[in-house]
Amino acid sequence: MTDTFLNEIEKIKAEAKKSYRNIMKIIPSNISTIKNKHQIDLNRIEMDRLWLENYAEKVILVLKEFTGESVAENLQDGLRKKYVHLEVLVKKVYNSDWNYLDNLAKKTGVEKEELYFLGLELGKPVYELYAEVLKDKLDLDNWGKGFCPVCGSPAALSYLRKEDGKRILWCQFCETQWSFMRLKCPFCSNEDQKSLRYFFTEEKDFYRVDVCDKCKSYIKTIDQRKMPHPNELSLYRESMQTLFLDLLAERDGYSSLSVQKRV
Ligand SMILES: [Zn+2]
Ligand SMILES: [Zn+2]
Repeated sequence: MTDTFLNEIEKIKAEAKKSYRNIMKIIPSNISTIKNKHQIDLNRIEMDRLWLENYAEKVILVLKEFTGESVAENLQDGLRKKYVHLEVLVKKVYNSDWNYLDNLAKKTGVEKEELYFLGLELGKPVYELYAEVLKDKLDLDNWGKGFCPVCGSPAALSYLRKEDGKRILWCQFCETQWSFMRLKCPFCSNEDQKSLRYFFTEEKDFYRVDVCDKCKSYIKTIDQRKMPHPNELSLYRESMQTLFLDLLAERDGYSSLSVQKRV
């Protein structure tokens, strides 16, 4: 994904977030008070239909400009004929429901990865606002789990922080970051060092992929200390622009959060 495409998407998201802030209602019963449980289940949050339609229209226009007319036209057609229901799409992506996305891809002619992207982007302003509101209630340094303390999603990326080399996990839905053990699999909690390893790519040594041979999953990791411009680290962009690492890991038989079930 090019920088200009992501710039446009981020601009629209910032605007959508601003307008959602004014209409958002936090319902206390949607927030968990159970210890060790993530704070909110986004399946229970109702999204404002008009806000969502308006935002989706803008994202689809950017897709039209950057990925060609057919994706946008198929999506618009799907919305008109009601195959595509925006709030359902957002929630299916949040639940990693690949069966749903496969079926929708067949009906609309839009690739499932593109549908995933759309569902993720459309939910992000809502997720991020919830995370901002709930942040103060959390002890992010001591959470210690592989799933997000706010929304329960499995970590999408990790990085080794430049100040102290600490391993930080990142949630792609709500942008929350939290500390995690260096030698532990975020997905099955395996700590056996014989079955945990990582590989690098040749050109860029600040990227690596951590794999677990026990559960056969992987997570992409960025070593911020080795980056040429460490202060410019954007985890959102890195996650979008390192798809080559996913391909390498998948080729070796590992899978990512896309098949992980929500906890
Ligand atoms: Zn989250
Ligand atoms: Zn594992």
